[in-house]
Amino acid sequence: MTARLRHYVCGSTSHDIGAMFHGASHGVREFPSGVFLYDGADGRRVLFDTGYATGEWHTGWRGAVYRRLLPPSVDDADDVAARLRADGIDPASVSHVVLSHLHPDHVGGVRRFPHATFVLSAGHERTLSAPRLRTGVLPGLFPEWFPGAGRSVLDVDAFSTVEIRGVALHAHDLFGDGSYLVVDLPGHADGHLGALIEHRVLLAGDAAWGTDLIEATEGLKTLPRLVQHDADRYAATARVLGGLMSAGIRVVCSHDPLGAKELLD
Ligand SMILES: [Zn+2]
Repeated sequence: MTARLRHYVCGSTSHDIGAMFHGASHGVREFPSGVFLYDGADGRRVLFDTGYATGEWHTGWRGAVYRRLLPPSVDDADDVAARLRADGIDPASVSHVVLSHLHPDHVGGVRRFPHATFVLSAGHERTLSAPRLRTGVLPGLFPEWFPGAGRSVLDVDAFSTVEIRGVALHAHDLFGDGSYLVVDLPGHADGHLGALIEHRVLLAGDAAWGTDLIEATEGLKTLPRLVQHDADRYAATARVLGGLMSAGIRVVCSHDPLGAKELLD
């Protein structure tokens, strides 16, 4: 079987670019919430992020603050399980779910995968153990079974330095065959992760708001800078992404508008 990487949109939000970056012209842009499904050569199926939650959120005052600041646009068809089923994929066939980080637009569909193994970083675990508004995590979005779910937590020792076309990355080889490297892309959230698929496509999560906005990252305004876990590392990660793009790696950010569904073609 040939490996495939498919992209689905599970809800979206909108922001004024001019309010985010110095020197950017004002204009509201839609930020789709991307979910990425990798089908490996031997039948393994790995989801990267899970999009927004549909329906009621049950996330209390934190959720109300979040929705006011970043209003989501999401309906039933945006549910990750519905998106997969519409494409002929049984959500129960997903063996692994890698979470880039724990913001609401990435974890809303976690509840749809009770039998998957969740791939998390030590930073994710830290954040979950002490959720605060500042970290942007809404505990109510996680199902009750989540603390007992199958999980593989990657601490610092799980990552080693690999060179990808001359660019150094901290990576964890998920299956030991190089097909799926979980990559440390720090800055946006504690323990933020990306994934390098088949040494060709880098799923960058929220390491930047968009591939076309990577260069603008240095000009981040005060408020969007403040919501980063570590703004200096966020800027350094953006430079790494730029280096990978120059070296011919296809970099895809979670909120990039993508025309095509298949990303390895
Ligand atoms: Zn985020």
